[in-house]
Amino acid sequence: MCTVTFIPRREGYSLAMNRDERIARGEALPPAVFEHGKVSAICAIYPRDIEGGTWIGGSAHGVSFALLNWNGPGLMHRKTRSRGSLIPTLISADSSQDVHVTLSQMDLHGILPFRLVGVFPTEGGVWEWRWDQTSIECETLPWSPRQWCSSSLSDNRASLIRRTTFDQFMHEADVGSVEWMRRLHASHDPGHGPFSVCVHRGDVKTVSYTEMICTPTQVRCKYFPGSPCRSDRLEHTVSTCRTFASTVRSPRASTEVNSLGAVVNHGESDGKSTFCFCSRSRPINNVSLVGR
Ligand SMILES: [Zn+2]
Repeated sequence: MCTVTFIPRREGYSLAMNRDERIARGEALPPAVFEHGKVSAICAIYPRDIEGGTWIGGSAHGVSFALLNWNGPGLMHRKTRSRGSLIPTLISADSSQDVHVTLSQMDLHGILPFRLVGVFPTEGGVWEWRWDQTSIECETLPWSPRQWCSSSLSDNRASLIRRTTFDQFMHEADVGSVEWMRRLHASHDPGHGPFSVCVHRGDVKTVSYTEMICTPTQVRCKYFPGSPCRSDRLEHTVSTCRTFASTVRSPRASTEVNSLGAVVNHGESDGKSTFCFCSRSRPINNVSLVGR
C-alpha cells in the first residue's frame, strides 16, 4: 500500500515514496546509515519498520530501492517471512545484474507478493522485479518519470486514479522539483480517501513520506513521519557521499571525519577505485531533526 515516484535528473534522480500502513502497526524508526556488504563494505541509508526491515533505501553506489506490496496475484501461501528484509539484503548491490543474481538465488518462499523497484544511475536504468509466490520476473524501464501504486483494496484502481493526478502534476511549472514531489505526495485528488496519493482510510493511512535524492556526489534521504498533508511534521535528514566504481585513479588516499561523524577514506585501488568510502559498523544518528 504505497505510492512511489521516480524523477530522473541530469546526473542523478529523485525517488519519493508514501508508505501507507495500518495505524496500529506502530511508528517506524527514522533513517540511519548502515554498513553493508560482505567483501567490501558500503554505506546504505534507510528507515526501518518495527521488525527492522524497510520499504525504501539507497546506498553510496547511488542505487536505490523501493518495495511495494503486490495485490494483483492471489495468495497461494501464507506469510512466514517479512518482505522488509529484501532491501537490506540487496542494498550493497552496485548493478542490476548483481540484484538479479542475488534474487534468483534467494529462497523467497513464505514471502508475500511484491514489486521491487531498483534505480541504477550508472546504468541509466530502472528495473522492476515482481514476485508472485511462484516465480520472479523482471522488467527494464526507461530513465523517465514514472509512478508505481499499490492498495490492498485494488492496485489497479489505485494506479488508475493516482495516474490521473500524476499526469495533471506533470503539467505544472516546477515539475520534478523537490517541492513538486512533496505536493504530489500530499495530494488528495480526486478526493480525500483510500485512493488519493495521501491516503486516509479508517485504520489505514499514509504514515510517512520518504525521498531519496541522488546527485553525483551525495545520496540523501529525507524522512517525514505522519501524513504528508500535515504541515507540522518532523523532518529527518541523513546523507552519505557517493562511491563510484571506476578505472580512473582517484586522488591519493586520505582519511577524514565527515559531517556525519563517519570515517571517510578518500582511497585509491587498482581497477575499482573508491573515491569516498564511509566506514561505520553501527547506525549513525540522524544529521538533523527539524520541526516544521
Ligand atoms: Zn492527507
